[in-house]
Amino acid sequence: MEEICIIGAGPAGLMAAICAAQNSAKVLVLETNSTAGRKLLLTGGGRCNFTHACCPEEIAKAFDKPGRFLRHSLHEFSPDEVREFFQWRELPSTVESDGCVFPISNQAADVRNLLVAETIKLGVHIQYQSRVEGISADGSGFIIQSASRRILASRVILATGGLSWPQTGSTGDGYRFAEQLGHTIIPTKPALVPLVAQESWASELAGVSLANVRLRTTVDTRAFAAVGNMLFTQRGIGGPAAQDLSRRLTDALSQRQQGIPVEIDILPGLDEGQVDKQLQQGLQAQAKKNVANVLSELLPLPRQLSQTLCLLAGCGRDVQAGQFPSDRRRQLTRTIKRLPLCITGTEPIAKATVTRGGVSRDEIDPKTMESKIRPGLFLAGEVIDLDGPCGGYNLQMCWSTGALAGRSAASLVVTP
Ligand SMILES: Cc1cc2nc3c(=O)[nH]c(=O)nc-3n(C[C@H](O)[C@H](O)[C@H](O)COP(=O)(O)OP(=O)(O)OC[C@H]3O[C@@H](n4cnc5c(N)ncnc54)[C@H](O)[C@@H]3O)c2cc1C
Repeated sequence: MEEICIIGAGPAGLMAAICAAQNSAKVLVLETNSTAGRKLLLTGGGRCNFTHACCPEEIAKAFDKPGRFLRHSLHEFSPDEVREFFQWRELPSTVESDGCVFPISNQAADVRNLLVAETIKLGVHIQYQSRVEGISADGSGFIIQSASRRILASRVILATGGLSWPQTGSTGDGYRFAEQLGHTIIPTKPALVPLVAQESWASELAGVSLANVRLRTTVDTRAFAAVGNMLFTQRGIGGPAAQDLSRRLTDALSQRQQGIPVEIDILPGLDEGQVDKQLQQGLQAQAKKNVANVLSELLPLPRQLSQTLCLLAGCGRDVQAGQFPSDRRRQLTRTIKRLPLCITGTEPIAKATVTRGGVSRDEIDPKTMESKIRPGLFLAGEVIDLDGPCGGYNLQMCWSTGALAGRSAASLVVTP
């Protein structure tokens, strides 16, 4: 009988394996792919934003109310300790101005390779191309059925991830296993996902990106904002700011028929008066140019967007700056500060960065990550009903819950 069997060699499963083996447990990892951490390789655009430079409490807060569940694990393995973990193994990191932490090499592959090397060093066996098909409880242990083998284990750590980017191996199997073992699965939805907009002008701008915008919305009288870069897509808006806002919209969108209004503040660093003044001066100084050209050079903005803004503000794109009425200019200013969009949905879960929903937190002991329903079963990472914002929060959650699950599983005394 195996001592600990971990299902999934993603960030949560690999960290669980390392921490269990460090605590003298004999560990087997089963992974459906032929390599570990396929999704990890894609993180941070291939650079891997592996945590956020802040204290455990701030990470917990970023997860909203569910953050309470995470507190213990975050204190057990904090963002600072995660950085030290990699630093000690010769992978130093750098903190960007927004607090996002990346390996100094800017290579997600370095993070993945280090984790795999560490598991090998500690004597963990990773069995690749080994898709688990079912898990059942057997007396004080578990029977794990894969296509080729039947494995008996006294403890199981479920680290199979969510439903997003299924081509990386996370196809939602873990939900089925947890349900078969008696757990409740909170319905899954896409989180951190591009938003679908009603307006056709948005899709005409597909490919145009904007730095540091502020997106605002109100859902059931609660105001939300997200700041960062965004991108117009074929069906609406994407990029970090849009994805962060999507966390506030997915629940509401699934419950209502009509869309949700969102405003884009293209220049959040300036108030409306300041933008209007700049515009007035710029238009006066370049009276012979057309308004859209002045706008794109002055602010500066992509030309295509400037033209769209002019049209939305009710002025022809070829109007000369010197002949631009002041009421139209004020309307243009308002459009720049409050560009309205109606969000009607999100892209599907397969295109989401993370999954909202999953194994109910109420059924997991936050001090150990052990199931309250099935002793000996532990859960870690995205398979749990937890989703955080962009910025390294989700991987930090995986490291912390993985580490705690590994240590707890290793220290559990199994009665024969
Ligand atoms: C494009 C993209 C970019 C991202 N960028 C960032 C970022 O920069 N920072 C950040 O914090 N987060 C980022 N995330 C989110 C982050 O990658 C995930 O939250 C994280 O990978 C979840 O880790 P996990 O170990 O729980 O699951 P996964 O990484 O999904 O790993 C689960 C593993 O289990 C295996 N598995 C599943 N079912 C079975 C089975 N039946 N049998 C055997 N093995 C199985 C899978 O093959 C997989 O290897 C990004 C996500 C995406 C899609």
